[in-house]
Amino acid sequence: MPHFRLETNVPQDKIPADLPAKICGVLAKSLGKPINYCVATVVGGVPMSWGGTSDPAAQATLMSIGALGVVQNKKHAKALYEIVTQSIGVKPDSTVCWKCGLERTSPRVFCEKCDAVQAPPQSDNYFKVFDMPEKFHLDQSELRNKFRELQSFLHPDKFSNRTDEEQTISAEYSSLLNKAYSNLQAPLQRAEHLLKLKGESIEEDQSVDDPKFLMTVMELNEEVENAGDDSAKLKELNAKNKAEVERILEEIDGFFKMNDIQAAKLSIVKLKYFNSLSKRINATLRELGQSD
Ligand SMILES: [Zn+2]
Repeated sequence: MPHFRLETNVPQDKIPADLPAKICGVLAKSLGKPINYCVATVVGGVPMSWGGTSDPAAQATLMSIGALGVVQNKKHAKALYEIVTQSIGVKPDSTVCWKCGLERTSPRVFCEKCDAVQAPPQSDNYFKVFDMPEKFHLDQSELRNKFRELQSFLHPDKFSNRTDEEQTISAEYSSLLNKAYSNLQAPLQRAEHLLKLKGESIEEDQSVDDPKFLMTVMELNEEVENAGDDSAKLKELNAKNKAEVERILEEIDGFFKMNDIQAAKLSIVKLKYFNSLSKRINATLRELGQSD
């Protein structure tokens, strides 16, 4: 039967009494096994230090026949970490090497002990993939440097003599890096990702109830229409559009800083309008053999 055993330096009286039962639920779901076979033990008050500090720390072991493996373990670890960190206040910043079991505190791509390639720290948060702060105005040169450095570690040539498991992890990691990088690079995608992390998203048919804004967009669209093949005029409109985009980007940054998610969401919808206008102008300019 699957057994999850957790030891922590958090005192027993600070551990919610229903935590073992909750863990059983998560365990059964993640392993795909009946809950009445699952056992969870939580031992509090264990003298334990993480990296020489007295911060809350925990160490866990999962035993199960079947349902374990490189890919499955990542899924189980994520589900179990979540409930443990939420319940006893342990920071989820440490991971265990899938190959040798070393408890790792560094975000390095390779294990310090056995040199096996490690899975990305957190795949659904692109900021965490690059270990960068979750904010809208992001240092783009720092992002580029981190991307290039990580990508150089994960080059397929470096894995030709490694195990299948390592080749799989490095290929998954590498494609995640590409996806995360392109999303964090483009302002609109970065804004939408940040919005998603804050628990909000934009519907496909999201409308804007702002007559002044809609008028501005309509006028700009008309001007583009009337400009026809006049490339000088199109470039002028492109500049005007860019100025609007810059203003909205500042607005979005401000709303995120104030944690006004609804206002940020509205500004992102507006940014989408300007982005599609910009695409339209640039497509016409390209057809005319002009680039801006
Ligand atoms: Zn290792």
